[in-house]
Amino acid sequence: MNIQTIPNSAVAAPRIERVRFELRRRSLQVERSIRLTPGMLRIVFSGDDLHDFASLAPDDHIKIFVPTPSGEVVPRSYTPRRYDAEARSLAIDFALHDAGPATNWAIDARPGDQLEVGGPKGSVIVSPDIRHWLLIGDETALPAIARRIEEVSAGARVTSVVAVTGPQEHLVFDTNADLLSLWAHRSISDSSDPSTLLAILKTTGLLPGTFVWIAAEAMVTRAIRSYLVQERGHPLSWMKASGYWIMGRADAHEKFE
Ligand SMILES: Cc1cc2nc3c(=O)[nH]c(=O)nc-3n(C[C@H](O)[C@H](O)[C@H](O)COP(=O)(O)OP(=O)(O)OC[C@H]3O[C@@H](n4cnc5c(N)ncnc54)[C@H](O)[C@@H]3O)c2cc1C
Repeated sequence: MNIQTIPNSAVAAPRIERVRFELRRRSLQVERSIRLTPGMLRIVFSGDDLHDFASLAPDDHIKIFVPTPSGEVVPRSYTPRRYDAEARSLAIDFALHDAGPATNWAIDARPGDQLEVGGPKGSVIVSPDIRHWLLIGDETALPAIARRIEEVSAGARVTSVVAVTGPQEHLVFDTNADLLSLWAHRSISDSSDPSTLLAILKTTGLLPGTFVWIAAEAMVTRAIRSYLVQERGHPLSWMKASGYWIMGRADAHEKFE
């Protein structure tokens, strides 16, 4: 493989547009659930409240409101994986893990069940002119990564590097992009260990003008972001990094500016 580490400071920062939406709360009904893989459950929702739903960026998020065992209702962040305006349906993909009200709710969801959903309250739109993408993440980032891969313009070059528990979790993406899809394997208990992702990244080229998107457990995101900035010289203006969850803490996430 041809490894390139060319700092792309000579390339102008990409255009990034922020769009805000009026915050709306919607009541949705479960239409069906589909086991995409042993560890990934898709729930498809429908409802008239979706008539004016909008999600302009693949990494938008919505809040779902789910009950805890004590009866309290708590918010959790999820990616609107696929929205069909005509059918007024919305899919959310849940990465299943040991315990948590959102995961438990998704596992138990049956057709006709109701779910309250808020947002998205905004979208961060990265220029559609980007020709190279490097998308890095774990199971929780797969819905946003899959959306990006599906939505990039034809011919864009996309490399995805995703940590999952094994080949049974690999997804096949439907895309017009020139896609290289790489998978790192580790157990769920090792999901805050960045080493398998880093091992792949160390043999992955990084062309100037590549937009890097990272979302995973926060320690993993931090380690990968540091590696790409400090050792590969990738500019922060060409990167968006988020901790989508934090090991050992409920409803926790972290933004990296
Ligand atoms: C912007 C954004 C978009 C997101 N999109 C998605 C999405 O589309 N699909 C998705 O599955 N997740 C997504 N997530 C991550 C999701 O919000 C968290 O995993 C959330 O904590 C799950 O809620 P829970 O109620 O199941 O567990 P919580 O009650 O929040 O956590 C309970 C325990 O489980 C641990 N935990 C949480 N998530 C995981 C995990 N994935 N693996 C192992 N342990 C975990 C926590 O550290 C805690 O110890 C997104 C997060 C953000 C910030």
